[in-house]
Amino acid sequence: MIITDTHTHLYSEAFDEDRATMIQNALDAGVQRFFIPAIDSTYTSAMLDLENRYPENIFLMMGLHPTHVKENYKDELAHVEQLFSERSFYAVGEIGIDLYWDKTFLKQQQEAFVYQIRLAKQHKLPIVIHSRESFNEIFEILEQEKSDELYGIFHCFTGNLEQAQKAISYNMKLGIGGVATFKNGKIDQFLNEIDLKHIVLETDSPYLAPVPYRGKRNESAYIIKVLEKLSSIYGLSMDEIALITTENSKEIFGI
Ligand SMILES: [Zn+2]
Repeated sequence: MIITDTHTHLYSEAFDEDRATMIQNALDAGVQRFFIPAIDSTYTSAMLDLENRYPENIFLMMGLHPTHVKENYKDELAHVEQLFSERSFYAVGEIGIDLYWDKTFLKQQQEAFVYQIRLAKQHKLPIVIHSRESFNEIFEILEQEKSDELYGIFHCFTGNLEQAQKAISYNMKLGIGGVATFKNGKIDQFLNEIDLKHIVLETDSPYLAPVPYRGKRNESAYIIKVLEKLSSIYGLSMDEIALITTENSKEIFGI
């Protein structure tokens, strides 16, 4: 069984004490493909270091996370663009709009999102979207930027059925993680109405640990709990879910 974690922050400080063990546990659990979203320039060297250590398993994205769009966002975007001019990545991410933590930089977040969508189109890459309390703002920009060349993943999807269908209509797959295992997470109630071909798995570790680890540090190995949940929702074996969602991730990332 090959499991793909399409969204894991393995370079996070939360793993500084035991990163190698944590990654080995995930590998032992069958998680062989880790897609690594960027946050801002302060993490770039740690990401490149991970790639050096696990060249077979680690696949990097590059981008500026919406909660890190601050006064210096133009310098950060220049850093992203610089890296894309030097080497290749598997996606532009994670990018989007987050109005949960702070609305001060909404205008700049919108601008950075559009800018990075265009960067993705230019490099023929998928985008990985971060959306928190911002479905309308995200959809407004996707509507404006939509094209055959725009595609990707709506990471940590937590919307309703209608929003799921809308995201899919913009060539987005839904990144499903720990929230699917939450009692009040709600997405488990309609997921069976979404064809599995639109679903990819993720942990978003160290955040959003699935039940029974909810509230604790999340790890890529815990993706098994998400796999179990999808297996019961879709009535398919865990092997089948792993196979199909890994195929879906290959379709998006091209590897
Ligand atoms: Zn993330």
